[in-house]
Amino acid sequence: MAFWGDYHTHTIYSHGHGTIEENVQRAVEIGLKEVAITDHGFRHMMYNVRHMDWKYMHADTQKVREKYPQIKIYLGLETNLSSRFGKADILPSDMDNLDLVICGYHKFVMPDRPSDMAKFFLPNFLFGSSETKSSAKLIKRNTDAYIKALEKYDIDIVSHINHAIKADAVEVARACKHYGTYVELNGKRVSMKDSDLEKMAQEGIIFICNSDAHSSNRVGDFSVPMAVIERLGIPFEQIANWEKLPKFRSRKKKGLYKD
Ligand SMILES: [Zn+2]
Ligand SMILES: [Zn+2]
Repeated sequence: MAFWGDYHTHTIYSHGHGTIEENVQRAVEIGLKEVAITDHGFRHMMYNVRHMDWKYMHADTQKVREKYPQIKIYLGLETNLSSRFGKADILPSDMDNLDLVICGYHKFVMPDRPSDMAKFFLPNFLFGSSETKSSAKLIKRNTDAYIKALEKYDIDIVSHINHAIKADAVEVARACKHYGTYVELNGKRVSMKDSDLEKMAQEGIIFICNSDAHSSNRVGDFSVPMAVIERLGIPFEQIANWEKLPKFRSRKKKGLYKD
C-alpha cells in the first residue's frame, strides 16, 4: 500500500535546496512512479522562478528524463494567487509549457494591481495566520479569489488551502470538485479545519497528498497528510495518488489521456 506519486516539490530554481536530478533520484529510490517539479511562480518577490531560467529547467528536466526512464517527470509550477479577482501569475500562453499547474496563496507576491495590496495581501498578511482574526468580509473575498482562479485557469491542484490566508475551505473544495481540481493535503502542514475536512470527505471531494519538499530528502514524505487521513478516516478512494495515478485537469483538457 503506497502513494504512487509526489506532485509538489521545489528545487534550487526557487526556494528548494536540491536540484531537479536530486529530487528525481530520491523519488526513484523510494519507488515512486511519478514526480513533479513545481517551483514557485514568477511573481513571488523572493522565491520565484525567473522567466529566463525556464529554458534551463526544461533542458535539465529533459536530461533527467533520459537518465531515469523508469519514472514520469512533470515540470510544472506552483503559481501564486496574485489578486482578489482570482488572477494567478501565469499567462494563458504559459499553459502549453506546463505539465502541471498548482495554485496557492503565498505572502510576498507582487500584487496584480495596487489595490490588491490594500485589499488582499495586506489584510491577509496581518490576519491570515490566525484562526479568528479575518473578518467575514475578508474570508468571503478570499473564497471568491480561489473560486475565480479555478474558473479562469485549468488548475490541477490547489495547494495548502488556508495557510496564511483564511477562506471558506469547503466552498473552495466544492469548486475544485466542480472543475476537476484536486485539493492538496500538504506534506508540511494541513491548515484546513478537521470539521471542514470531514465535510469534504462526506461530499466526495478528491484530495491529493504531496510532500511540498524543499529538500530532496523530503520528496515522498507523506507523513503529515497520512496522519490527517488516518485520524479523520478520509476514504483512500478519495486520495488521487494512493495506489493509483491521478488524472490532471489541465492534461485532460490537452487530450493527454486516452481513456
Ligand atoms: Zn506553497
Ligand atoms: Zn510549495
